[in-house]
Amino acid sequence: MSRKLLYAGLAAVFAFLAAALFAQPPAGRGRGRGKADPVEKIRQLKPNLYLITGGGANTVLRVAPEGLIVVDTKNPSDENFMRLMEEIRSVSMLPVKYVFNTHHHPDHVGNNQKFIEAGATVIGLDALKSDMASDPRTKDIPGRPTQTFAKDYVLAYGGVTVEAHSFGRGHTGDDTMIYFPDLKVVMVSDQITDANPIVDFANGGSAVEWTKILDGVLQLDFDMAIPGRGEPKTRAEVQAFRDKFASLIDRARAAIRAGATRDTLAMQVNTSDLGWTFNAAFYGSLYDELTKS
Ligand SMILES: [Zn+2]
Repeated sequence: MSRKLLYAGLAAVFAFLAAALFAQPPAGRGRGRGKADPVEKIRQLKPNLYLITGGGANTVLRVAPEGLIVVDTKNPSDENFMRLMEEIRSVSMLPVKYVFNTHHHPDHVGNNQKFIEAGATVIGLDALKSDMASDPRTKDIPGRPTQTFAKDYVLAYGGVTVEAHSFGRGHTGDDTMIYFPDLKVVMVSDQITDANPIVDFANGGSAVEWTKILDGVLQLDFDMAIPGRGEPKTRAEVQAFRDKFASLIDRARAAIRAGATRDTLAMQVNTSDLGWTFNAAFYGSLYDELTKS
């Protein structure tokens, strides 16, 4: 009995501590992120290709014979940039010549300006540049792309080819897939997630077009896909994620055909087997997307 009471007491204490812990404001927001999500040690994925996690989002480094190509520049902070360069310098002293951005969110473009000041060209989609200028979260971040393109771009630099492709709207309205054909690697960014996928409807994102981007990716010859956060994925994992997303859209369509309204759609689409949960705002925007003519 007394042991039972002790356990109950401990459980209450732990519940209280857990509640206190989770009541803290999310550490991942804003300028404090550098400390909560430190830039990690650089790792080699393939010959001349490296991954640096942390600092908000994954950064990819491609070493070319005469210079470096970087994909995504993490959340804005001197600390993140310093740590990122420290890791880059641990594998190469060549100058960073080109930076690609996968979309306009702060954790992907945050330190562009510092690379520009060091002599790099920042290459991004036209829509990425305009979304970065208009999104309240990024409009004051310096370092918009210095070279833009409408849909596809091929960089040939020192014998290395890097392709950038816009296959449609998904996570945002300016998602860009960065492809290294010789290594069979594609950076898919936040178009593939370990947690719930997030659609930035306010900045051109689309749930309905999401799979179109992954269909474009699956047309490429690759065996490794690098997400915006987390570990690299296989081709089969990209296919499985695409199919899960297609199921979500199919179910929402079917529910609307069966009479679901903007307010009831959330209750009439079951995603528990997909491992995803979405809030009412998501279903409202999804309803709008599926019912607009
Ligand atoms: Zn994002």
